[in-house]
Amino acid sequence: MKQLERDFVVLGGGPGGYTAAFRAADLGRSVTLIEQQKSLGGVCLNVGCIPSKTLLHLAQVMDDAAQLESVGITYGKPKVDLDAIRTHKETVVSNLTGGLDGLVKARKVERITGTGSFISDTELLIKTEDGEMTITFKDLVIAVGSRPIQIPGIPYEDERIWDSTKALEVSEIPKRLTIIGGGIIGMEMAAIYHGLGSEITVIEMTDSIIPPADRDLKQSLLKQVKKQYKAIYTSTKVTKVSAESESLKVELEGEKAPDSIEADAVLVAVGRKVNTDRIDIDKTTIKRGDRDWILTDEKQRTNVSHIYAIGDVTGDPMLAHRATHQGKVAAEVASGLKSAFTPMSIPSVAYTQPEIAWIGLTEQEAKEKKIPIKKGSFPWQASGRAMTELAPLGVSKALFDPESGRILGAGIAGKHAGELIGEAVLALEMGAVAEDIALTIHPHPTLSETFAVAAELAEGTATDTMNR
Ligand code: FAD
Repeated sequence: MKQLERDFVVLGGGPGGYTAAFRAADLGRSVTLIEQQKSLGGVCLNVGCIPSKTLLHLAQVMDDAAQLESVGITYGKPKVDLDAIRTHKETVVSNLTGGLDGLVKARKVERITGTGSFISDTELLIKTEDGEMTITFKDLVIAVGSRPIQIPGIPYEDERIWDSTKALEVSEIPKRLTIIGGGIIGMEMAAIYHGLGSEITVIEMTDSIIPPADRDLKQSLLKQVKKQYKAIYTSTKVTKVSAESESLKVELEGEKAPDSIEADAVLVAVGRKVNTDRIDIDKTTIKRGDRDWILTDEKQRTNVSHIYAIGDVTGDPMLAHRATHQGKVAAEVASGLKSAFTPMSIPSVAYTQPEIAWIGLTEQEAKEKKIPIKKGSFPWQASGRAMTELAPLGVSKALFDPESGRILGAGIAGKHAGELIGEAVLALEMGAVAEDIALTIHPHPTLSETFAVAAELAEGTATDTMNR
């Protein structure tokens, strides 16, 4: 068996892993990147963020076109060519993953296509198509990510039972799609398949879809989907799914839900599980916590000082932008720089129609933890740009510390909320007070103004609407 000795090794080539590899290479390390798939980019590029947003964009454009009917422009019913859509989605993905291959070469990163597992705290076993090898390493970054959780009572062997990866293959458009899980992934998939023509039912165990988001941010989305979808059953549990010849029978337990419903496909989107169980981690002394998440300090270091862990494998929130930032920190710390992962907060975005985005403290949390806040909330019905965009369903709000005046959190619901939240993230990181935001001249007419008006409302200086 080949025995290699390497300097800086990254296990897993998702957003966290390739970022760590590239940053370490730029800092002069000799880098080896091990990824089991032929294509780099991990879940995000291949079966997550990018394919889902590609398909959501198509659904959004179809929705926008249909909305024009109310102002006198009518198109025919959209004709959906699933093969062409799939090709488009695959092209977007392969353009991006191909770009990563180029960056691997340009940075002279050694790429090994194979599956890695631990032999000890200092050695990996790699299985490739051409055989096995061992690698001893000076520094290692674990970035092996996560996979969908499976819940009991579901016949996963039936091809009508989907996970998010299968749903993003867009191999068919089921007439009736039931989605178990009303979180961000479930609601994004609902928007995609509604756009493609499926009749959607969402089952959510908690009392609301997208549980961590504030209720006022969800109002616009709820208003839309209640009109568009067959049903949304909250506070409802799926107890069993049976595969019958003509359909799937989904059994439910919930006050307002029927005993069972029928579906042509069922998507299970109830969360993700880390891949630590697939890398023989028990052969190391690396400490793990609840749900097998790898424990690290703010330098992304595990208890084994030359081993780092980043991204989904370190737990919630499982988001690509968290993974990439942690990847940079791990590479920098391992290369002797003073670096740490200490964000004020990590933004969350549901790319639904309308979008919902938030950062930092939520109102829900402030209430639970009895944190005093001063709030400014601006409904988009009073925004000129929202009107011109036919996008009155929205709200921008900002929460401030009543004493220091500093921003504590923000939430935006509406068209492009995912883009607009970037300003709130910057404000939070820079320790902005309401006045900083209110006195920053935003271009008019834009949706970005709505965030400034939210700050003006907290200040009592708004003129576009009544100060309360
Ligand atoms: P991953 O992306 O999971 O990458 C891990 C890599 O390690 C994979 O390529 C895997 O093949 C490889 N690997 C695993 N085990 C081994 C092994 N033993 N040997 C070698 N290689 C191995 N996040 C957002 O921020 N925005 C979004 O809009 C968004 N949308 C999403 C939509 C969906 C449908 C899903 C499922 C996820 C979405 N996410 C989104 C989450 C995001 O994809 C993840 O948070 C992100 O990919 C995590 O990056 P990572 O590098 O930690 O791990």
